[in-house]
Amino acid sequence: MKALVYHGPGRKSFEDKPQPVIQQPTDAIVRITKTTICGTDLHILKGDVPEVTDGRILGHEGVGIIEETGASVANFKKGDHVLISCITSCGKCEYCRKGMYSHCEDGGWVLGHLIDGTQAEYVRIPHADTSLYRIPAGADEEALVMLSDILPTGYECGVLNGKVSPGSTIAIVGAGPIGLAALLTARFYSPAKIIMIDLDENRLQVALKFGATHTINSSKEPALGTLLEMTGNRGVDTAIEAVGIPSTFELCEAIISPGGCIANVGVHGKPATLHLQELWAKNITITTRLVDTVTTPLLLKTVMSEKLDPALLITHRFRLTDILQAYETFSHAEKEKSLKVILNND
Ligand SMILES: [Zn+2]
Ligand SMILES: [Zn+2]
Repeated sequence: MKALVYHGPGRKSFEDKPQPVIQQPTDAIVRITKTTICGTDLHILKGDVPEVTDGRILGHEGVGIIEETGASVANFKKGDHVLISCITSCGKCEYCRKGMYSHCEDGGWVLGHLIDGTQAEYVRIPHADTSLYRIPAGADEEALVMLSDILPTGYECGVLNGKVSPGSTIAIVGAGPIGLAALLTARFYSPAKIIMIDLDENRLQVALKFGATHTINSSKEPALGTLLEMTGNRGVDTAIEAVGIPSTFELCEAIISPGGCIANVGVHGKPATLHLQELWAKNITITTRLVDTVTTPLLLKTVMSEKLDPALLITHRFRLTDILQAYETFSHAEKEKSLKVILNND
């Protein structure tokens, strides 16, 4: 089969790999019909994730059709349409029993990381019964690719941890796919103000279409001063950090109002300064989290009932065989005006 293979920092190729086979009775083999590229894949290619070794097939998102199941898989059979969760969970360990699938002792984020991933014609999914979701008949499968990772990530790590509530004022720092996913799901709770902050004017325009009430282009105006002006010097009840660099996290510390929540979503590679001398008396909460994908069933229902349209995040479509070109488009987001790219293999 064909697959996108990582060969160390800065090196990847689309090449022939052996088709995956069942290794454990709990495995399923899925024929990928649609997959996508994540910002995390770009981090891996930069060399930021050293656990990913030469020869690894990348990708942790996608939908497909069950090709084969191991002897103990009970919930799925050959031919079923399934959504692949970016988080693999055994359903039995102590963390899984707490609903913290991201820390599963025999899973968590393994696809396209510690085991071969979804940017291929076929993928092996361990613990298939608890790591796959059945796709309802008539669903827009392209839209559901957004539910493998970015929608549950924006919702769980940003909106739920940030305690977004009706009438509140929220700021989302970073209007990439994850920040926009947080925006789409924050709207479930009818916040009064949603302020998006980014450097890329196109992404801010997209945010306005998705329901942001205010935008700040931090390449043109000082984010802190403008935000304080917009909020009558109060700051925000929820600050969602969706970038992953020290300056954006520290901006969240500066704009949080007393009693507020800073919900970190960004993947950080460097320390950020905690300004405790400003924050110690402000009754604030700072949260961090990996996505557990516990909200995937809920999000699936909101998509099916048309309360949420994650297909809005898709800007480009390619054949899986053109994945190298898709990486170019995805990695030059500002120039290409790209958000999520879909790779078709059906
Ligand atoms: Zn991802
Ligand atoms: Zn587990």
